Amino acid sequence: MKHNLIKGTLALAVLAALAGCNSSKNESKPCVEDVCKLTVLHTNDTHGRFWHNEDGEYGMAAQKTLVDRLRAEAKAANSEVLVLSGGDVNTGVPESDLQNAEPDFIAMNHIGYDAMAVGNHEFDNPLDILELQRQWAKFPMVSANIYDKNTGKRYFDPYKIFKLKNGLRIAVIGLTTEDTAQLVDPNHVLNLEFRDPKVEVEQVIDGIKKANSADVIFAITHMGHYADGVHGSNAPGDVEMARQLPVGKLDAIIGGHSQNPVCMEPGVANQYADFKPGDDCQPDQQNGTWIMQAHEWGKYVGRAQFDYQDGKFTLTSYELIPVNLKDEDGAFIQER
Ligand SMILES: [Zn+2]
Repeated sequence: MKHNLIKGTLALAVLAALAGCNSSKNESKPCVEDVCKLTVLHTNDTHGRFWHNEDGEYGMAAQKTLVDRLRAEAKAANSEVLVLSGGDVNTGVPESDLQNAEPDFIAMNHIGYDAMAVGNHEFDNPLDILELQRQWAKFPMVSANIYDKNTGKRYFDPYKIFKLKNGLRIAVIGLTTEDTAQLVDPNHVLNLEFRDPKVEVEQVIDGIKKANSADVIFAITHMGHYADGVHGSNAPGDVEMARQLPVGKLDAIIGGHSQNPVCMEPGVANQYADFKPGDDCQPDQQNGTWIMQAHEWGKYVGRAQFDYQDGKFTLTSYELIPVNLKDEDGAFIQER
């Protein structure tokens, strides 16, 4: 009897071990044993520049060629890709303005944008034009801090969650400068309220974390980057928002509005580098949150490459890649 009991116990132990093995395989979470790779490509403040300039620089056709190449490079490196815009697609070139930026949105569809922040210039036209643009765009316009005064509800979706093939779940929250109400024709925004993005972002993040619906949280913002948070007469921007959030709440901000290359002087806190096309670019980091912005007009595509494993999200490389920018002699500036 004793012998059989031991035998039985052993058999049970073996079964339990096997079961344990199976269940752990079934429940194994993605991006725990394997590194999940993510490439974020970004632009902002393209302002009607769907066409190249008179020197043949930038433009959305050239941008598509570049993005296609970067997608192929990401695929070869086993990395998933998100293409994001920091907003202000509208206003700046008559060819675009006279067509309500339809060519710009068609080009963005071809390039394959995944989401864009709502910029203040998206309200340069009456709301019915913006509604038309939302229909043209095959990607969401997101903003968490714009409310409809009549309904008390948000006018846009506050965020979108992307579930990548490698299993990584990324929330992308949109935010718009509070200054918008003062920057545009008041008749276009009569029924809208632009609330404090610093308050809205924390509420949205808390909701996402409580529901455990994302592993990584990004904000695409149209609020401006002001070094050391010195925002002057502007509403507070990305730096001020990142500083007031608890560490670890927001992984990265892909910004716009201030129309600067956010490339910081290495080794010096809160100081812009003297960045020229083709130079290395070190993005800003405040309170653990990366902050990036790709100047303006589609002159650059920002490329941020990240690794995610077991809850750890790491930036492995960053660059601003020139889009057919030329030097004084008319030669294309090569990325390094
Ligand atoms: Zn703007």
